[in-house]
This record gives sequence, C-alpha cells and structure tokens, in this order.
Amino acid sequence: MWTNWSGGQQCRPTATVRPLDDSGVSAVVRRAAERGQTVRPVGSGHSFSGLAVTDGVHVDLSAFRGVTGTGGAPNRPTVRVRAGTTLGELHEELARRDLALEAPLELAAPTVGGALAVGMHGSGAARGSLSAAVVGLRLVDGRGRLRDVAVADLDGARTSLGALGVVLEAELAVVRAGRVRVTREPRPVEEVLAPDFWTAHPVVEAAAFPSAGTALTRWAEPVAPHDDEDDDTDDDAGERSLGVTVAGATGRTALGGAVVVERALPSLVPRFNRAVSRLARTVSAHGPMHRVLSSPPAVRYEQTEWALPRHALADGARELLAALADDHLEVGLPVRLRVGPPESAWLHPAHGRATGWIAVRVPRGTDHAPVLERAWRVLRDHDGRPHWASRSDWTADDTAAAYPRVGDFRRVRDDYDPDRVFATPPLAAVLGD
Ligand SMILES: Cc1cc2nc3c(=O)[nH]c(=O)nc-3n(C[C@H](O)[C@H](O)[C@H](O)COP(=O)(O)OP(=O)(O)OC[C@H]3O[C@@H](n4cnc5c(N)ncnc54)[C@H](O)[C@@H]3O)c2cc1C
Repeated sequence: MWTNWSGGQQCRPTATVRPLDDSGVSAVVRRAAERGQTVRPVGSGHSFSGLAVTDGVHVDLSAFRGVTGTGGAPNRPTVRVRAGTTLGELHEELARRDLALEAPLELAAPTVGGALAVGMHGSGAARGSLSAAVVGLRLVDGRGRLRDVAVADLDGARTSLGALGVVLEAELAVVRAGRVRVTREPRPVEEVLAPDFWTAHPVVEAAAFPSAGTALTRWAEPVAPHDDEDDDTDDDAGERSLGVTVAGATGRTALGGAVVVERALPSLVPRFNRAVSRLARTVSAHGPMHRVLSSPPAVRYEQTEWALPRHALADGARELLAALADDHLEVGLPVRLRVGPPESAWLHPAHGRATGWIAVRVPRGTDHAPVLERAWRVLRDHDGRPHWASRSDWTADDTAAAYPRVGDFRRVRDDYDPDRVFATPPLAAVLGD
C-alpha cells in the first residue's frame, strides 16, 4: 500500500517498479501500454492531492539521482539534474559548486520531478517557481520514446502534472551562491496586507491566525560574502518556520500545545493562537538561503493552497480569515500568505499573472473537510486557482475556464501521450481526457 506524506491519499498499484536507467523506464512504459495499464511516476509523495495515486504502475525514480553536468554562460549558469534527486540533495550539490537555486524552496524532501510537475514555489515578488528555472527537459513519453522536449513545448512541460511522460532529467538555470539574513518578526495583520510589504524584500512571507491581529512574518535579504559572523544554519529550523510553528515564540512547544488544545477543546484554539502571536518576537539567522529557510514540518497536516491574482491577495486573505473565525473553523496552524511573479508555464497556477498564494493547513487528526471546503469557497471567488499538489474540488471544466493556454497544453499532451498511458482518474478529473 502506498501512502502520501499527509496520510490522506493511499493506493495499491498493480506494480511498483524502480528502473535503473533510461531504457528501463522506456520498457516499463511500453509494457504497461501493451497491457492497458496506466503509468504514474512517483516522487517523495509530498503532494496532498491525488496526483500520484494509481491502481496501475508506479514508477519510482529514486535510482535517478544527482547532478550530471553544468553548462550555460558564466553569468547564466545551468545544471543538469536527474529527476529523482531530492531538493535537499540538489541544494547541497549546488552549494559544492558555489551555485544555488533562485527559487527560495524551503522543503528538502520533494524530488525535482515531483516539484516540477506541480510547479513548486517559494515566496518573493520576483522569485519564480522551480518550473520557471527549466531550460531543458528529457523524458520518456507515452509510447516509451526517449525525447528532449522541444523549446516550443517547454511551457507545456515545465509544469505538466506528470501528464506528458516520465521526466528523467532537467536542465535548470541557477545563480551564484550567496548568503542571506533571515528575519522573523511579528507585524500587525493590516500592515502585512498592504502591497508595500510584499515588495520590500526579495524573499518574504507571512502567516496569520484568524483570531489574532498580529501576523508572523519572515523575510530574507542578501548579506555581503565577507560578512564574518558565524553562520546560523538553524539547528532547530522547525522552531522558526512560519509555516508550521510560530516565529520566535515558543516554537514547537507552542505548536504541540495548539494541536493538543485543538483535539481536546477546540473552543480554546483562538485564545491559544492569540496568546502565541503576542509572544512572538523578532529573531534573525544568516547563512546559505536553503539552510536558513529550511523548515522541516513539526506536525503532519492536510493543505489547500490557492494562487490568487496579486491584487486580490489582501481582500482574499481578509475574507478567509474572517470566514474561518466566524464559522469557528480556526485550527492550530496559521494561514500562510506568499507571493510570486507571473509564470510562463501554461498550467502553472501563477500562469500569466503576479500571484498571491494563500494556504490553509489542518493538523492530521482534526476533521479537515469543513475547514478546507470553507477555504475553497472563499478563494475560488477571488479568482483563485489551486496549487496542483494541494487538496481542492477543482474540475477539468474549471481548468478549461481558468487557464488560457489549456488548448496548447492539450496539443502537446496529444503528441506526448496520445494513448493516455499517464491518465489516471485524479489526473483526468482536473485535466479532462
Ligand atoms: C510539508 C510540506 C510542505 C510543502 N511546502 C511547499 C511549498 O513551500 N511550496 C510548494 O509549492 N509546495 C509545497 N508543498 C507541496 C510540494 O511542493 C509537492 O507536493 C512536491 O513538490 C511534490 O514532489 P514529490 O517528489 O513529493 O512528488 P509526488 O507528490 O510524489 O508527485 C507529484 C506529481 O509529480 C509527478 N511526478 C513525480 N515525479 C515525476 C517525474 N519524474 N516525471 C513526471 N512526473 C513526475 C507525479 O506523477 C505526481 O503527479 C509542500 C508539501 C508538504 C508535504
């Protein structure tokens, strides 16, 4: 039985195969196609949605790891990385070459293939997703053919939900490694909702409890390479994450308390959250960005995250926070707010528009359905598109209406997977046949 990270998705694939080389992947796809089975590549299983679920064949890419080469120009370097490499491994391999990803991705566990398929993003007005860094892709298509994706098709393939093939290797644009100072600070919620907050720092995010007037913020600024302070690479990064615990407050203790309170006496949660927000204080750390932003989650949870047009971020967040408070749906994890630039990928939720991301998380063990469903209603009404890795009630009709280049994606899909070998029911639910 396969289970995702949150425990909310499970499946029993007919077979799980772990090919060792490119021809092994081709053989798996051909054999499954002959037998009328579907094929689903699977990464680290960190998606909350059912995209990796199948009763067909799971292709485990864990033998496809590591950086295989560097290229590009001195001022525009690139690396080639195999799709089963985790982001944590990629960060470290890049650091050894004095390189780094531009996208501020804080989670180490996802694989490159999985993160690209769903359009994994961080937070910064000008910092695009991992998909935005793709300059080349090699995959095995639905007929088992090894293909280098043509430049004209790249915006279909850089965020593809795994619908076009099994990605084996990506060439990514990277930047010279640098160091950043990360500051975590409590700020009034209304200050955080003002547009200036999101452009004041290259990497910036916030999190707010519905009942609290104070948001927990985090931002990163570059520091000079000769800064000789010792790196603070966060021995206990989880304590400092806005995503999961509270910045500079009582960290993991506070979160554990929140979850316990929530399960025993939900009516105490808002009071507890307000107290935790008041306790938050300013802290900072500095070092390589992937280390100081790193935040392994302290508890497991379910999540829905939506991409709103940036101008709708403040109203969407205000309405969502009020709805959760009014309907007594507040939980022990804050609502997370982030931003990103327009993405070129035809199916990226931030396609074609500067975006404000809003994520609602519900700790495992708490009834998540009423909270997530309330969030869907509000965020949809603000022209939101759900993150492909998150839980939602999104349908193929919604995709057709919300993504202007969906016709181009269909054309590329018809070319790469004409027989729909990769089309599982969860995929068909959001993309259609
Ligand atoms: C605690 C936590 C924190 C998170 N934080 C963030 C965040 O900050 N920002 C964000 O954007 N997302 C975040 N996510 C979601 C996360 O980005 C995605 O779930 C993750 O990137 C998917 O990678 P994976 O390796 O786990 O893929 P899986 O979940 O295993 O698969 C996801 C999809 O990718 C496809 N796929 C996998 N490998 C390949 C391949 N080689 N070729 C083609 N298709 C493939 C699968 O078929 C499936 O459709 C978070 C998730 C968790 C659990």
